[in-house]
Amino acid sequence: MMTAIQSPTPALKTNPKFIFFTDFDGTVTQQDSNDFMIENFGTGPARRKEMFQDVLFVRRTFRDAFKEMLDGITLPLNECIEALLQNIALDEGFKEFYTWARTNHIPVVVLSGGMEPIIRALLAHLIGEDEVKTLPIMSNDVAPRPGKSLEDEGGWEIAYRDDSSFGHDKALAIRPYATLPDDKRPILFYAGDGVSDLSAAKETDLLFAKSGHDLVTYCKNEKVPFKTFENFSEILGILKDIVAGKTSVKDVAAGGA
Ligand SMILES: [Mg+2]
Repeated sequence: MMTAIQSPTPALKTNPKFIFFTDFDGTVTQQDSNDFMIENFGTGPARRKEMFQDVLFVRRTFRDAFKEMLDGITLPLNECIEALLQNIALDEGFKEFYTWARTNHIPVVVLSGGMEPIIRALLAHLIGEDEVKTLPIMSNDVAPRPGKSLEDEGGWEIAYRDDSSFGHDKALAIRPYATLPDDKRPILFYAGDGVSDLSAAKETDLLFAKSGHDLVTYCKNEKVPFKTFENFSEILGILKDIVAGKTSVKDVAAGGA
């Protein structure tokens, strides 16, 4: 359990003008690591789709359905991670984007419904051990089941970050930044692809939604302005223009899909 009191706005330490929040699975990576585990080591693709439909049509909470899907996985955590390292690829443009953001003092914060040890292992593998050390990840965690260790068969389960029906309400992480007074508030970006990103999306100034994915549909339905993207190279191009003053966040958002 984390009991230390943390600043609600750790990314403000360097007084940045911009902060970039991003989803992890299917956004920073090309595939969703949780879907991969559930489909290959857990309940399988058919049952997974069925349960996601239940969430989509509000028949059950994400928190409850996701836990049930992950509980079907009995493979030890280290073996899950090993399989993911071999099967999950990084977004083509992310590494260049991340290097640019660091050089330009734009904090990148990962907000994920996934589990921290898995995300860290994947990122260390995909972008490098050192790069990942300074990258804040706000996500769920894993916990050993009673009497077991993470490396045992059936030894781990998800440990949710908060008490919300999402397990990790991404909007809660962004809100302390979004509600800062105007003279202190950086411009906030968000990139995502799925349903869990919608609450976060509403808190930021410019939302990038992965084209062809659920978040686009949701934004259209909810009338949340967004800009579609295929990969992080596109996002990088737009951010460079915004930072250079060639275009504004409002113009990009108004330009729509
Ligand atoms: Mg995602």
